[in-house]
Amino acid sequence: MKTYPLYLNGEWLNSDTTLPVVNPASGETFAQMSAVDRPAVAVAIKNAHKALAGWRHLTAKGRGELLHKIASELDRRREEIARIITLENGKPIAQSQGEVAMSVDHLRWFAEEGRRVYGRIVPHQVEGKRHLVIKSPIGVVGAICPWNFPLVLAVRKIAPALVAGCPVILKPASQTPLTAVALAECVAKAELPKGVFQLVVGDATEIGAEFLANPLCRKITFTGSTEVGRKLIAGAAAGVKPLSLELGGNAPVLVFDDCSLETALAGVMMAKFRNSGQSCIAANRIYVQRQMYPGFLRALTDRVKAMETGDGMDPQSDIGPLINAGAVERAHEHVQDAVNGGGRLMCGGSALRRPGYFFEPTVIGNVSRNALCMFEETFAPIAPITPFETEAEVVELANNTIHGLAAYVFTRDMDRMFRMAESLEAGIIGVNDGLPTTSQCPFGGVKQSGWGRELGYEGIEAFLETKHVSIEME
Ligand code: NAP
Repeated sequence: MKTYPLYLNGEWLNSDTTLPVVNPASGETFAQMSAVDRPAVAVAIKNAHKALAGWRHLTAKGRGELLHKIASELDRRREEIARIITLENGKPIAQSQGEVAMSVDHLRWFAEEGRRVYGRIVPHQVEGKRHLVIKSPIGVVGAICPWNFPLVLAVRKIAPALVAGCPVILKPASQTPLTAVALAECVAKAELPKGVFQLVVGDATEIGAEFLANPLCRKITFTGSTEVGRKLIAGAAAGVKPLSLELGGNAPVLVFDDCSLETALAGVMMAKFRNSGQSCIAANRIYVQRQMYPGFLRALTDRVKAMETGDGMDPQSDIGPLINAGAVERAHEHVQDAVNGGGRLMCGGSALRRPGYFFEPTVIGNVSRNALCMFEETFAPIAPITPFETEAEVVELANNTIHGLAAYVFTRDMDRMFRMAESLEAGIIGVNDGLPTTSQCPFGGVKQSGWGRELGYEGIEAFLETKHVSIEME
C-alpha cells in the first residue's frame, strides 16, 4: 500500500508514523499518509518565517504569476485530482470535477486581485503632516481545513494568503490528506520558493496547539465545526492570535407561495443534496408556505426518489457515501427523531445494506419545529419540510438558531427579496439561487458560524495588516 509524503521546506518527506486513508464507498483503507509530530510543525513554522522576507518583497504581480502556474497545473491534472477527491471523500465524480474547476477559478481570481491591494492617502488636519494607510502581509499563516470540500476550501485559504505575501502551512483533515498532497504537487511544480507553502498532516490537537502557541505563526485560518472553532478561540487568548473562522451552518430555506415551483425545486435539490448534504451551506430545514406546501412536498419526493445512490466513481451516482460510520448513525438518529415527533417519511430514511457508508436520500414532511434536524446541522441527504403561514413567522423561525452561514429564499416578489436580504441573519443569502458561492464575493457566517470572510476582496484582507504612516514634513 502506498504511503504518501509530507511537503516540508521544499522537500517531500515520508515519516514513520502514518494515518490510514479510507474509501468511504467501501470502508477499506487504500493508502497511508505520513504524519508529523509537534516539533516538526515548529520547524515548519520556522522555515516559513525564513521564507517570509523574500516572499513578501516579491511584487504582487510576481506572486500572482506563480498562482496562475498553480492554477494551470491543477487544471491540467483536473481529471486525476477529481478522482482523488472522490476516492477519499466519496462525492460523485462530476461534483469533484466541479470542485477542481472552482479551485482553479479561485486561484486565477486571487492571482489578479492581489494586484489591487491598495493603500490610501488621507487628507491631513494639521499643516505639515501627511497620512498614508498601507497594507502589509500579516506573516506566517496556519491553515486548518475540513474533509467535505478538501480542495476548494484549502484553496480559499492558501490563494489569498500567498498572494497577500504570507507563507502558509496547510493542515488538511485526516480523512482527506491525498487531495492536499495533489495540491502540494501543483504548488511544487510552480516552483514557489522553499518554505512558502508546506503541508503537515497528523494529530490535529498537536498541530493546532503549535500554531496557537508559536509566536512566529501570526494567524490561524480555520474551516470546520463550531465546536473546534470554540477551542481555537479559547487557545488563541494567551497569544492574542488573530483567527479567521468558517464554522458550522444550519441553513433555512424559505419557499413562498409566490415563487416558481420549478426554481424552488431545482434550488432545493442543489442546496440540499450536493455532496450528499455534507456542505456547510447545505439546506438544513425547509419551510414551505401553506398553499405551496402539498405540491412542493409531492414534487420534491418524486425527484428524490429518482436519485441514484452509489459509489461516486460511477457517473450514474447522484448521492455518494457519507464520510464515515458515525455520520450514518447521526443521519439515522435525525430521521428517527423527526418521525417519532410526528414527521411523515416520504422516501428514504435508512442506511444501505452494503459496504461503505451510504444513506438513502430522504424526504420527511410535517416535521415538528422542535425536531433535532431543525436545530442541529444534519450533514446528510435528509430534507425535513414543514409548512408556515406568514412572512413574519418564518423569519422568526429561520433566525432562531445560533448559526448564521447561509439562508435561501424562493419568491418572485421584489419587495420581499429586499426584506429577506435585510432581515435574515446569515452571511450568504441565495434568492432563487441554490448555489450562491462565487470567487469574487465574500463567503462566511454571522453569529456562531464564524469570524471574517473568505473569497472576494475580503478574502485577501484576512491576511493583511493595516498600518497608518504619519509623516511630519520638515
Ligand atoms: P472538524 O472536526 O472541526 O475538523 C476540521 C479540521 O479541524 C480538521 O482538519 C481537523 O483535523 C481539525 N481539528 C480537529 N480538532 C482540532 C483541534 N483541537 N485543534 C485544531 N484543529 C482541529 O470539522 P469536520 O467534521 O471535519 O467538518 C465539518 C464541519 O465543518 C461542519 O460543521 C461544517 O459546517 C463545517 N464547515 C464549515 C464551512 C464554512 O465555510 N463555514 C465549510 C465547510 C465545513 P482532523 O481531521 O485531523 O481531526
